[in-house]
Amino acid sequence: MKNVVIIGAGVAGVNAATKLVDNQFDGQITIIDMGKNPYERPYEEVMTGFLGAGGWSDGKLTYHTAIGGQLAKYCGEEKAMELMDQVIENFKRFHPKPEAVQCSNPIEEPEFIKPYFGLRLFPVWHVGTDYLHEIGKNWYDFLLENGISFKWETKVTDIDFDKNLVYVGDEVILYDELIFGVGKSGIDFGKKLADKYDLPTEPKSVQIGVRFEAPQKHFQKLIDVSYDFKLYRKFEDKGVSLRSFCTNNNAAYVAVEETYGDHSYNGHAKKDEAYRNNMTNFGILMEIQGIDEPFTWSRNVVQSVNKNGTGLYYSPSRPPSQTSEGIDVSATQITGKQLDEVREHFGGYFQYIDDFIDDMKKVFPTLQHDWGIYIPEVKYLSPEPLVNYNNLSLTKYEQVYFVGDALSARGITVSGAHGIYVAEQLIS
Ligand SMILES: Cc1cc2nc3c(=O)[nH]c(=O)nc-3n(C[C@H](O)[C@H](O)[C@H](O)COP(=O)(O)OP(=O)(O)OC[C@H]3O[C@@H](n4cnc5c(N)ncnc54)[C@H](O)[C@@H]3O)c2cc1C
Repeated sequence: MKNVVIIGAGVAGVNAATKLVDNQFDGQITIIDMGKNPYERPYEEVMTGFLGAGGWSDGKLTYHTAIGGQLAKYCGEEKAMELMDQVIENFKRFHPKPEAVQCSNPIEEPEFIKPYFGLRLFPVWHVGTDYLHEIGKNWYDFLLENGISFKWETKVTDIDFDKNLVYVGDEVILYDELIFGVGKSGIDFGKKLADKYDLPTEPKSVQIGVRFEAPQKHFQKLIDVSYDFKLYRKFEDKGVSLRSFCTNNNAAYVAVEETYGDHSYNGHAKKDEAYRNNMTNFGILMEIQGIDEPFTWSRNVVQSVNKNGTGLYYSPSRPPSQTSEGIDVSATQITGKQLDEVREHFGGYFQYIDDFIDDMKKVFPTLQHDWGIYIPEVKYLSPEPLVNYNNLSLTKYEQVYFVGDALSARGITVSGAHGIYVAEQLIS
């Protein structure tokens, strides 16, 4: 009987386990997570615990192979869509009100955008933050009932890929197959292992920018076409592209993320009308190619734009906002003059963000000074180890499978699809 160990009860790990259970996998499955089970996981623990970062996110399930990280690269377009279908079905399956899961599917790029931006159009299934907790509990109960063992509040500190051993403090666990799905909260751990075992990796870009916030009314015309709109522009010769990222509307809140002790920003939206604040927020994220040591560069920028132990907020007119719990979003407010220092820290690249905002004022004429930015928003792309494309196992260690954000994903659907893809190979 095989012993499968899954590190990370995030979207990827949980979908992998579910696929194994659904196929009566004949083996022992253990999931280890440093966070808490869904009954005990508090609201503030955004990154860790059952369903991982995805479980406490905005619950937007993007449904396109160009969004959310690498998937079709490994398995082809058709298989990628089929895997994403399975992830969406799982979220519906454990949803207390599956009929509330809606899909927005824009079909035409509106004319008024065209002179300044492109608009990436793709379907999004919207689960809603509020329901995710209930989904988590139902899903967890199902896995428990089907014999999965969980180890909560247990941090894996090391792995011996040569001897198939996982270390949790003093305890050592032996595995036959290991699924490594530690997400963003385990990015430093993944990097440590990649260094220790000298895992070959694929080259990466820098992904950095700001979280933009404004009253929703300015963007309504576009939101009517696409809820999670993706404005984008590309400067091929400079190796820079920009996109609006993870748009939240109606009851939209800016969220603070903490990575390596520094603050950066993200956003989420509530479904419950009680939380409606009629705001919109989204990342303006640059993808910059060709920077040496992209990870170190990003970390240095993030560090240099943290002040008084938190990130920065700039607005020509608006005070910073509050979280859904009614607390001020943690940020140090800066003046226009201090924004020049930020521009310096971004090493010339901030100009692209300035231009993006200026052009939004042209496309959305009521916007003018009615906006604010939280600095920085960052996606630390974990070093992406080289894997066998047919099953996501490491080229150097074939019993170890990298999945989700720990591999090359940036979203729920793709992360879950990685997990299912690996499970399918284990079953076969
Ligand atoms: C605020 C926020 C909003 C988001 N909104 C969306 C959205 O609307 N749509 C979307 O598609 N994506 C969204 N994302 C991204 C999405 O959540 C991730 O892409 C997805 O959760 C990645 O899945 P994963 O399984 O790889 O990792 P995660 O879901 O992050 O899970 C990783 C798990 O591993 C555990 N772990 C880490 N290290 C260790 C260790 N050493 N030992 C034991 N356990 C460990 C963690 O506790 C965690 O539970 C959002 C992210 C955030 C932070």
